[in-house]
Parts: sequence; C-alpha cells; structure tokens
Amino acid sequence: MFAIGDLTALPEAKTAGAAAEHADSVTTNIRTLINGGGELASYEPGPPGVALPLGPSGGASYAPQLGVLGAEQTAQIKGADLMTGMYADMFDTEGG
Ligand SMILES: Cc1cc2nc3c(=O)[nH]c(=O)nc-3n(C[C@H](O)[C@H](O)[C@H](O)COP(=O)(O)OP(=O)(O)OC[C@H]3O[C@@H](n4cnc5c(N)ncnc54)[C@H](O)[C@@H]3O)c2cc1C
Repeated sequence: MFAIGDLTALPEAKTAGAAAEHADSVTTNIRTLINGGGELASYEPGPPGVALPLGPSGGASYAPQLGVLGAEQTAQIKGADLMTGMYADMFDTEGG
C-alpha cells in the first residue's frame, strides 16, 4: 500500500508540491511492480520552501539552496499564472 499527500507522516510541510513529489515516487514504484518487481525507490523529503505571490507580479520566495527570491522570480515561479499553465500541461487540458 502506498500513501501520498497530506495524510502521510513524513517530516516535511504538507504542500501540493510535496504531494506531487510523492506521486512521482509512487507511480515509479507501481510501474516497477507492474513490470515484475525489483527494488522499490524510497522517498526522501525535500527541503522547506515557500513561494508567496502578491498579485501577478509581486511577492517573495525562499528556498534553502537559493535563499530569498524577489518579486520577479516569484512571479515566474507562481504569481504570473498561479501554476495553471503547468497543471494544464500535466492534465493535457487547455488553460494557463
Ligand atoms: C488555504 C490553503 C492554502 C494552501 N496553499 C498551498 C500552496 O500555495 N502551495 C502548496 O503546495 N500547497 C498549499 N496548500 C496545501 C495543499 O492544498 C495540500 O498539501 C494538498 O491539497 C494535499 O493534497 P491531498 O491530495 O493530499 O489532499 P486534499 O487536496 O485535501 O484532497 C483530499 C480529498 O479527499 C476528499 N475526502 C476526504 N474524506 C473523504 C472520504 N471519506 N471519501 C472520499 N473523499 C474524501 C476531500 O474532499 C479532498 O477532495 C494549501 C492548503 C490550504 C488549506
């Protein structure tokens, strides 16, 4: 049995970003099992981070490996379209 998302007891923030990483890990393992088994991948919690847009072009972000990011980078990461384009691509729908 696999678990993903907020119901996990992993030592990391409960975020949609983390849930997506869990999903990648679990789909890899399900494919491994479908293909006859082998060593399953284990999930390592990622570092904490936050993207806090203020409107489409403002805000700030933080990631330990990058430090504090300003408004322009925050808009690129999230604020400009609130990631609707990324999810439209992921689900092969129109949007963004
Ligand atoms: C206000 C707010 C802002 C957030 N902002 C961000 C953000 O900017 N970035 C980010 O990465 N994360 C953010 N999060 C966190 C993010 O929303 C969650 O981490 C993510 O939604 C978890 O996904 P999940 O699928 O595990 O759970 P959920 O999205 O909670 O999905 C669980 C689903 O199960 C359904 N359900 C519950 N019980 C039953 C039942 N008995 N039978 C059938 N269905 C059931 C629920 O209705 C729900 O649809 C935010 C959360 C909140 C509350």
